[in-house]
Amino acid sequence: MSVLERKQEVEARIATVCRESGRQENDIKIIAVTKYVSLETTEQVLNIGLQHIGENRWQDVKPKWEALHERGTWHFLGHLQTNKVKDVIGKFAYIHSLDRMSLAKELDKQAASLGIEVNCFLQVNISGEETKYGVSPQEFFQFAEEVSKLAHIRVCGLMTMAPYELESEETRPVFRGLRELRDQLNERRLFPYEVKELSMGMSSDFDVAIQEGATWVRLGTVLVGKEG
Ligand SMILES: *Cc1c(COP(=O)(O)O)cnc(C)c1O
Repeated sequence: MSVLERKQEVEARIATVCRESGRQENDIKIIAVTKYVSLETTEQVLNIGLQHIGENRWQDVKPKWEALHERGTWHFLGHLQTNKVKDVIGKFAYIHSLDRMSLAKELDKQAASLGIEVNCFLQVNISGEETKYGVSPQEFFQFAEEVSKLAHIRVCGLMTMAPYELESEETRPVFRGLRELRDQLNERRLFPYEVKELSMGMSSDFDVAIQEGATWVRLGTVLVGKEG
């Protein structure tokens, strides 16, 4: 299947889920995750009108970013080591993996030195799996409060990943949990603005994530395929 056919199929599925769950299609934004595909395929992805590109590691995305960065909006999805912040700052419009205070401070410092604000998602480990990054729901509000004091970080939303091995329906409590945390965060008014976005849902579980309120879905295999 071509990337265009996959895109049409994914968009049709999103439209169906939206219709069935009373959501607006244009509230769901797609990030094409290109970490499994070449620069050439990434270029095709941009050519067919997918504008948001997601990647996990700077060393892998570097050639793609250097060749194509003006054509898209770049999202950093993977675990970010503090000493790699300088590689990604200013290049990625969104960081989806803000999961600890040391990283927040480094992002804030580097953003300050560039005179920019960096859009971040707070990553939460809702499922509690030991192998997953993210703050626990118990630590979440304190973490958010500390981050709210950093002038160069804008918290646009929350991000989570559901356990890979779950059947899609079993992921529902994870996504619902993230939505509830976002709503509670806004009730507490820790930020002088509304924290709106929910970055959740991947190839195997995006339908359920949308039903539970996802505003950004991160799609690799199902949308751009997997090469090599
Ligand atoms: C790889 C990855 C994705 C996309 O994975 P697929 O299952 O191929 O859709 C989404 N989010 C993150 C954080 C990833 O690392």
